[in-house]
Amino acid sequence: MARLQAKYPLEKEYLQAVQEVLESIEEVYNQHPEFEAAKIVERMVEPDRIFTFRVTWLDDKGEVQTNLGYRIQFNSAIGPYKGGLRFHRAVTPSMLKFLGFEQTFKNALTTLPMGGAKGGSDFDPKGKSNDEIMRFCQAFMLELWNCIGPDQDIPAGDVGVGGREIGYLYGMYKKLARQYNTGVLTGKGSTWGGSILRPEATGFGALYFTHHLLEKAGIDIKGKKVAVSGFGNVAWGACIKATELGAKVVAISGPDGVCHIPDGITPEMIDYMLVMRASNRDKVEDMATKFSEKAKFTPGKKSWSIPVDIALPCAFQNELSEDDAKELKANGCICCCEVSNMGCQPGAIHFFQHNGILFAPGKAVNAGGVATSGLEMTQNAEHISWSGKEVDDKLHFIMKSIHEQCVKFGTQPDGHIDYVKGANIAGFMKVAQAMLEQGTI
Ligand code: GLU
Repeated sequence: MARLQAKYPLEKEYLQAVQEVLESIEEVYNQHPEFEAAKIVERMVEPDRIFTFRVTWLDDKGEVQTNLGYRIQFNSAIGPYKGGLRFHRAVTPSMLKFLGFEQTFKNALTTLPMGGAKGGSDFDPKGKSNDEIMRFCQAFMLELWNCIGPDQDIPAGDVGVGGREIGYLYGMYKKLARQYNTGVLTGKGSTWGGSILRPEATGFGALYFTHHLLEKAGIDIKGKKVAVSGFGNVAWGACIKATELGAKVVAISGPDGVCHIPDGITPEMIDYMLVMRASNRDKVEDMATKFSEKAKFTPGKKSWSIPVDIALPCAFQNELSEDDAKELKANGCICCCEVSNMGCQPGAIHFFQHNGILFAPGKAVNAGGVATSGLEMTQNAEHISWSGKEVDDKLHFIMKSIHEQCVKFGTQPDGHIDYVKGANIAGFMKVAQAMLEQGTI
């Protein structure tokens, strides 16, 4: 850690992600001198390679705009590079390095053969027209297409990249590569190679995981009040499944504030989340404007200020602070499952773990998204598409198995389950073993 801190002093998120994993695996690592001899950790913390490129495009006024694009191919020990693309104004190499590092362990947990990668751009989708989004995606792919492939590196969506963006990216890829390589991107439309349920998968998987975690603790999810943050693709899927399982989602949020929905979110409101995302306005207040009798908007507040049993951060890294964790606890919260990548600050995780609140980390909870991307790749390779039930059954099976891996590697001598340790050790052991077997490369 000291060496990495000296080398990358400004890469805060990357150092935070590495620190969490190294702390978790320390004990196990020291029991394996063969890992130490092969310098597995020193190799694992550095990405295999980073592509950085300029993306120049024309906005609706005909003015030239320039952004930076990146693809970080982090680790390919257990499969081709796999991970999403994030379009957000705050994207930096540090953010993508943390995400690529996390992705490597997350993908290992899915039971599917996928390495880790992440990419994206500091392009800000907020306020952009559909045409501008399309021109940006095309310009981005003009640089990226040569670095990716169905057995090489398979990007997908993440914050700011959903079905629409994947469509534009794929259109341009196909034109440049002159091949209908569906397996090169996941999250595609269902009529052209996309998997049924991929849009819902991250949220659905997160709720399957939460359900298993609560069940293990002897708690029924039915009737529980849930706070979700964000209103994007992940929050949307989480709201659908939470409601289906009998829980009540009473809060969603945005950068502008929180919407309190005392009687629980309705199917119409869940549908409206999609409209809100497509508008690129990035305002959760729009929900309260549209459904003024059911939802009350409070500016500047987070979802964690609403009294709930279960907190599900679904938006961005470090979105839940130690103070938020304390407020949740004071209001009776019993469980926090991190759905966003590294959604909780280290102080919040520490507080949850030492104050009897069940906590599970993003790399386990949100792995259903990339797992279903893996299922999409399989369908593409076989040139078939499975039914919704087939995909859902497989997703459920995968989430159950991720939960089991966490329990296996995270059960402490006193019997309590440390899900952070469990997820990190399970993911690490698989990647480390594969690296060892493939020699010094
Ligand atoms: N961006 C998602 C994640 O963080 C999905 C990646 C994928 O489907 O490749 O896991």
